Amino acid sequence: MKENLKDIITQSLLDQKEIFGDELFETKNLERKTSVHYKTEDDESKSFQVKEEIKKIKLISDESQEEALFEEAKEDWQLADKLDLLNKLICNCQKCILGKTRNKFVFGSGNPDADVLVIGEGPGADEDAQGLPFVGRAGQLLTDILKAIKFSREEVYIANIVKCRPPGNRTPLPAEMDSCIPYLKKQIDLIKPKVILCLGLTSAQGLLKKKDSLTNMRGKVFEFGNAKVMITYHPAALLRNPNWKRGCWEDVQLFRKLYDDIIKNNG
Ligand code: SF4
Repeated sequence: MKENLKDIITQSLLDQKEIFGDELFETKNLERKTSVHYKTEDDESKSFQVKEEIKKIKLISDESQEEALFEEAKEDWQLADKLDLLNKLICNCQKCILGKTRNKFVFGSGNPDADVLVIGEGPGADEDAQGLPFVGRAGQLLTDILKAIKFSREEVYIANIVKCRPPGNRTPLPAEMDSCIPYLKKQIDLIKPKVILCLGLTSAQGLLKKKDSLTNMRGKVFEFGNAKVMITYHPAALLRNPNWKRGCWEDVQLFRKLYDDIIKNNG
């Protein structure tokens, strides 16, 4: 009886298939396939958003990786946030030959928040012996020049293009200056002076990277970062040639006026 019923149903299905074709039996499958294969607009938009988010996350992580690598590539002293720390990190420097012959490393001295930065060429014998910039006769003359334009040594900051004494007080070589000037630039970043006075041609050319004469550069205002820069004679040159003192006096008066104008305009 069961076999009979099965035969009857099978035969009936075969008859229907013959009349209506295969589709009658595949409709359900087709419906299911349709719902799986064709996404709605909403699905497409969600999938697009997810892909964009993944892209963004990837970009951010690539950028942070690059930043992290850049930070790692920096030397410790480049990350210093205080002058004292910078001094500690570079005082044993041997990046150029001057490190071999110095007695004392001369970092610089003065007010760490100074508006006025004075830059000389390099330490002489007295500076090399004491580890301080502009001591001795040239140093005393600088103190007098600053006093004449109403600045005390305590309120300004004084540094040099190179921090170790060139033997025999010779002019530092370009390679020596290139090795040392990044330290000075870091000092300038930390001090943030409003005005800079360069003493002598080596100081001006080293800082401004200009191949010009002292005569041409005196009396003009240059820029270094956010600071205004003027140039005058080095005090040691004035000791050798007192005739230049008058020119120096004119230069520093202009420098004082530049400073006063900046302070007045900044409120
Ligand atoms: S002059 Fe500057 S770069 Fe050369 S050893 Fe001294 S600190 Fe280093």
